[in-house]
Amino acid sequence: MLIKFKMIYCCIILYALFFTIPTLGQTLNLSSAVLPTDLSNVSPISKKATQNSQGLIPEQSSLPLFKKNEPVKIGIVIDDLGSSWGRTKLFTEFSGVLTLSFLPSSSRLIEQVALALTAGHEVIAHIPMEPIGTDNPGQGALMAHHSSDNITYYLAKYLDNLSGYTGANNHMGSKFTSNRKAMYSLMIELKARNLFWLDSMTHFSSIGNKIAGEVGVLNIARDIFIDNVVEQDMILQQLEVLERIALKKGYAVGIGHPNAITYKILSEWYSRLDIRKIELVSISEIITKK
Ligand SMILES: [Zn+2]
Repeated sequence: MLIKFKMIYCCIILYALFFTIPTLGQTLNLSSAVLPTDLSNVSPISKKATQNSQGLIPEQSSLPLFKKNEPVKIGIVIDDLGSSWGRTKLFTEFSGVLTLSFLPSSSRLIEQVALALTAGHEVIAHIPMEPIGTDNPGQGALMAHHSSDNITYYLAKYLDNLSGYTGANNHMGSKFTSNRKAMYSLMIELKARNLFWLDSMTHFSSIGNKIAGEVGVLNIARDIFIDNVVEQDMILQQLEVLERIALKKGYAVGIGHPNAITYKILSEWYSRLDIRKIELVSISEIITKK
């Protein structure tokens, strides 16, 4: 009787092992499909996402998206929009996706933003901030000495009138973006409005992205300006530099301005772009996946 019982017991153990081990194996295989063990197949962008997510971006959702065989991403921002309806209209007619950044002093701002959104572009707020030196950043600019309440007041005055925008970047601001207290107040407001921060990097000492990270605001910095020299050859040269940056690190952000020549060169460059290698996307698309 005892021997019979032992045999039945052994059979149960063997049966359990037979079905448990493959199940365990399947579980491990599933995990390795989601998290590749061979990181050489993953572009630098996904490695960076793993290291820098700070809990803001779900890591597993970004990992499978950035394989080496995917096109790298370029985001082009056009700053200083709003003062000319004609220039806004021109850039909204661009055949690829652009990120259009509007100044608060723009006339018929709501209509211009609606035009941009209807055409499928991304819209962000171009916030004037105090520069080093005597350049005038414009009416309602945020100043480094402003109190937190003042910064919130000026931002609300601008941002409450807008809708459909996803982020903000600085117009001028070399002094403001280097000031910890001022940038902290700005980031608190961006966080409350669920906006991302694009640092235009008008000065190397900007601490914008550092503070954004501390407050939990998604952030990115521009890599280059594409038309600081408003000449055909120089703009094209800068776009080629932008391509090289993107191919190296997986993405790149360039900032341009609403010049007719910028539009012309950008259009020609875009028509020649090898979309199997490089994709023009919104800043949101880069920032949520980088
Ligand atoms: Zn600007």
